Amino acid sequence: MSFYKEGIRFECKQCGNCCSIKGYVFIFPKDLERLVEKSGFTLEELERSYLSTVDGYTVLRSRGDEGCIFWDAIEKSCNIYEARPTQCRTFPFWKSLVYRKEKWDKETAMCPGIGEGRLYTEVEIDEIKNLL
Ligand code: SF4
Ligand code: SF4
Repeated sequence: MSFYKEGIRFECKQCGNCCSIKGYVFIFPKDLERLVEKSGFTLEELERSYLSTVDGYTVLRSRGDEGCIFWDAIEKSCNIYEARPTQCRTFPFWKSLVYRKEKWDKETAMCPGIGEGRLYTEVEIDEIKNLL
C-alpha cells in the first residue's frame, strides 16, 4: 500500500534547489519536440549548446556543480519553463521517489514545496509518476 493514500500537498516555491544541484535531466523524444516547439531554440542550437549524451542517453547540459544550464540563479527561474522536460514537470512525483517512504523523506528535506499548496490525490500522483 502506498504511503500517500491521503494524497500529498505540493507547490513549487521556485527555490531552485532541484535545478541547481548536480544531476542529469534526461531528454526523451517528446521532450525534444517540446523544446524545439517552445524553447525558442532550433534543434541545431540545442544540439550544439544545450544537449549532451551520457551512456547513450540525451541529457541537458549542466554547469558543473551549479546544475542545469537553463537555471537562472539571479532571476531564480527556469529559462525554458514552458518547454521544460518531463523530468522537471513531474518532479517530485517520480516513481523512484514515491516508491519508498524513506526515499521520499530524504527528498522532502531538499524541496520546500512538498507539503505546501494544493493536494494531489493518490490517483493523480500515480498518473504523474507514470508519465516519466
Ligand atoms: S526544490 Fe521543490 S520548491 Fe524548489 S524549485 Fe524544486 S520543485 Fe520547486
Ligand atoms: S530545465 Fe528548467 S526546470 Fe528543468 S532542471 Fe533545468 S532549470 Fe530546472
